[in-house]
Amino acid sequence: MSGFEKDLNTELEQIEARGLVRKIRSLRFLDPVRAIDETGREMVVFSSNNYLGLTHAPEVIAAAQRALMHGTGSGGARLTTGGHFEAAELESKLTAFKHAEAALLFNTGYMANLGVISALAKPNDVIFSDELNHASIIDGCRLSRASVKTYRHSDLEDLKRLLQECSCDGRRFIISDGVFSMDGDIALLPGLVRLAGKYQALLIIDEAHATGVIGREGGGTASHYGLEGRIDLQVGTISKALAAEGGYVVGKRLLIEYLKSKSRPFIFSTALSPASAAAATEALSLLRKNGNSYIEKLRSNSELLRKLLTEAGLPIINGVTPIIPIIVGEAKDTFRLANKIAASGVLVSGIRPPTVPEGQSRLRMTVSAAHTEEQIRYAAGVMARAWQER
Ligand SMILES: *Cc1c(COP(=O)(O)O)cnc(C)c1O
Repeated sequence: MSGFEKDLNTELEQIEARGLVRKIRSLRFLDPVRAIDETGREMVVFSSNNYLGLTHAPEVIAAAQRALMHGTGSGGARLTTGGHFEAAELESKLTAFKHAEAALLFNTGYMANLGVISALAKPNDVIFSDELNHASIIDGCRLSRASVKTYRHSDLEDLKRLLQECSCDGRRFIISDGVFSMDGDIALLPGLVRLAGKYQALLIIDEAHATGVIGREGGGTASHYGLEGRIDLQVGTISKALAAEGGYVVGKRLLIEYLKSKSRPFIFSTALSPASAAAATEALSLLRKNGNSYIEKLRSNSELLRKLLTEAGLPIINGVTPIIPIIVGEAKDTFRLANKIAASGVLVSGIRPPTVPEGQSRLRMTVSAAHTEEQIRYAAGVMARAWQER
């Protein structure tokens, strides 16, 4: 081993000793919520972001299959090689769905945050960012070299204080997750809109866990609060409820046109495959047609699981979204519990630092509209037993 490899190995051993080592589970999905693991065991999946189960909807699969006939890959970046029409079609569908003026696709939600924040925020600008924002927002802020003021989680007073204290020469940005990915709570959008207006800040909301999850027809955070048209830019992903993979931003036409010319992750990366774009377009059509019934099923499934876990005495973080965190504390205990639960055929995520702060490791369950009542009751039973025996 070279010196460098020895250093890496030492670091890995320390990670392992602290219960922070990461392993990929390889799954073969039978439907949106059942999968076979490496050992041949069938698992009910409560760890996926496939909130509506649309990855397996016959209409979505058929749309992806039709687009596959236009090629398995897109062949290049859209500005250089030309774009597939499926990308443009998805952008116009997203624009309408989000009541925006224009949309732009990125290859992932992660790249959308990097691309939007780094192109718009300049070194003498100031970004006000919620302390629980997603890593891709944090990385986008770093890449922009703007100064970053982090406010306490959903604490509008703290945000207001930072805005007041700031003697900013440049522009101001307020950035928040719409639904927080690890706590499952919803951003206090009315307050954010008010402060953004008062302090002339550009408001960016990350809709990754909100689109297709909350609001009328799954329209997201703005629609949940009846504040459509009041968010300057909504960043999101088509890889969660929208059943494909890729990211997007929607907002004012001028901002979107600027991003097309200035956002490096958009300019220098090969576009999404036509099949991914077509799958998400069809998922949006299904939301337009049946959205309220999907969202209602997702909500009642989430409510049932939250109720059963609470009755069993598990310390869940209260809320209304399908993201249900159960705080364990230590990383090692969390890892052990998640494995024990998996041995009973229920897949939940063990979330550990650096995804969450030290001492706040947790089991994280995500509910899908595709879960049956029987699956939810089974999972709650397994969770209750594992919790009592821990
Ligand atoms: C998942 C997620 C992303 C990243 O989206 P991908 O398409 O998976 O890259 C960005 N922001 C938030 C809040 C997320 O939860």
